[in-house]
Amino acid sequence: MQAFTHAACLAHDTGPGHAERPERLRAVLEALERAHPDLDWQQAPRASRGQLLRVHEEPLLHAVLDSHPHERVMLDPDTVLSPASAEAALRAAGAGVAAVDAVLSGRTRRAFCAVRPPGHHATASTAMGFCLFNNVAVAARHALDAHGLERVAIADFDVHHGNGTQAIFANDARVRFVSSHQWPLYPDTGAHNETGCGNIFNVPLPPGTGGAAFLAAWEDELLPFLDAFRPQLLLISAGFDGHRRDPLAGLQLDAEDYARLTAHLVALADRHCGGRVVSLLEGGYDLQALAESCVAHVDALRS
Ligand SMILES: [Zn+2]
Repeated sequence: MQAFTHAACLAHDTGPGHAERPERLRAVLEALERAHPDLDWQQAPRASRGQLLRVHEEPLLHAVLDSHPHERVMLDPDTVLSPASAEAALRAAGAGVAAVDAVLSGRTRRAFCAVRPPGHHATASTAMGFCLFNNVAVAARHALDAHGLERVAIADFDVHHGNGTQAIFANDARVRFVSSHQWPLYPDTGAHNETGCGNIFNVPLPPGTGGAAFLAAWEDELLPFLDAFRPQLLLISAGFDGHRRDPLAGLQLDAEDYARLTAHLVALADRHCGGRVVSLLEGGYDLQALAESCVAHVDALRS
């Protein structure tokens, strides 16, 4: 199994006290190196402007890549652009593109992108919710437009709704997007009746929801919806902020719950697309919970 990261992702500087901090990625990398010393690590390349423009509008590229700030600039109350952020954003999006190339070329069946900034809140036009570019959306469009796939599935189990991913693909029937997330919670999208062009399935979960109900939502609703689609590639927005220790939300999940869901997702990929899975790190803000959950996720991806 291949894993993609880049040192530039550690240099994206969100400032003191920010939840989405470099220590998150450091904790993930250290835990994965300890638990999986034989992981095949790859340097994430930069996404090209053309690859980003499959998803994003030119003014957002301009704001992130061409403004060259000398100090931190707030793009919204949560989202920071630091002097090093453009390079981090290019490498985070490029990791997903390279991981898609790796699994579609047959070099590996599964790939994990240990990157930041995260991506799933970024819309075509707007950086928001700690996200600059929508990494998973750029990866999906690369699979469709560069590799000619016709059906790509995106499974998002971050505790927040992937509003950006949903909005980007709401009229693109080549993609099915499924999400479980806490409701109510930022960004206040992801109601059950938001169905796009019939390609979107949301399961909002009340605060306090534990592993059994979380897994039941996937087993009974979200996974069957993806099975019916017969995807040619499965992408995962892997956020671990539904863990019971996470400070930003109120679900009660454990690392083992992420392992169980990942095993289901791998089985789905085995049924439909030769086991091809690309997973990208999204949220997760308690360092210990994030590290343990990431290891559990990668354990399941490798089995
Ligand atoms: Zn999140």
